[in-house]
Amino acid sequence: MLVVMQTHATQGQIDHVLDAIRDMKLTPHPMPGATRTAIGITGNVGAVDPRTLEVLPGVMELIRVTKPYKLASREMRPADTSIKVANTVIGPGTCTMIAGPCSVENEAMILRTAEFMMENGVRLLRAGAFKPRTSPYSFQGMGLEGLKILEKARAKTGIGIVTELMDTDNADAVEAASDIIQIGTRNMQNFSLLKCVGKARKPVLLKRGMSATLEEWLMAAEYVMAGGNYNVILCERGIRSFSDHSRNTLDLSVIPPAKKLSHLPILVDPSHGTGKRDYVPAMALASLAAGADGLLIEVHPDPDHAASDGAQTLDFTAFKKLLDALKRLAEPLGKTVN
Ligand code: PEP
Ligand code: MN
Repeated sequence: MLVVMQTHATQGQIDHVLDAIRDMKLTPHPMPGATRTAIGITGNVGAVDPRTLEVLPGVMELIRVTKPYKLASREMRPADTSIKVANTVIGPGTCTMIAGPCSVENEAMILRTAEFMMENGVRLLRAGAFKPRTSPYSFQGMGLEGLKILEKARAKTGIGIVTELMDTDNADAVEAASDIIQIGTRNMQNFSLLKCVGKARKPVLLKRGMSATLEEWLMAAEYVMAGGNYNVILCERGIRSFSDHSRNTLDLSVIPPAKKLSHLPILVDPSHGTGKRDYVPAMALASLAAGADGLLIEVHPDPDHAASDGAQTLDFTAFKKLLDALKRLAEPLGKTVN
């Protein structure tokens, strides 16, 4: 259920509606808009007689949200969500780049990559300190030591940090070290982890589960938002299919329906989507053309010697070339690359 307040509703009237919703043992989610405030309601809304709210001063109308995901739906918030983070913005009109190595390997390579990104106008560095690996014998990441390196890079260069949270135990440490918390594909339906980042004060980059439908993905976003963290960024990273010419099947066809059903920004990760560095530039450009609000690209100073995902990782020269091509494509699309 959505309560739409009148354009000139006072703060007192809004507060009165919030209290009335809480009195019904439901949760209000105030959403200030350009012209008026809307208040989303979650909980067992079906049990409530909407007329009790309809008659309150300052209320314009009550709208029933038909989709199972509420806060993530466009019915609840018609305008695109824009998320301000680390001296940049993710949302309409921009193609936000998030780039960096798959894993934090040592301080020197992270610093070098952070400096290179800042020189090239990329404001968000992504590198994993905790790595979800298929094999327990593969490099598992540097853990807390890796987070310290990321914090150092942020302090030294001013770059924003995106890094993965794999379990609730490390939530505080990852939140402190990051500007955006990544939830990986394997954890998209780890509901305790989703509830945990719902309480975080940093935006969440929610990768699509490799076998998740769009509705399941938006329900995962809803878990985070229901906890009070409304800054969720979706990230398509490829799904499992019968195709074996690429690591995953990058489902760019999910972008238009995701945009239709949800106001949340959506990024694309063509690195994990293809698994091969030669294919990354074409799919990055295609993502932008299909309406993505940004890209997550794996970049390493020496990809052939990367500790993880080297085969799908661009070197600095290839990344710079891609950045130039993206800028040329962004212009006629009315977007700026940031
Ligand atoms: C990653 O971003 O390095 C990663 C492990 O991604 P995903 O969860 O999409 O596999
Ligand atoms: Mn990776």
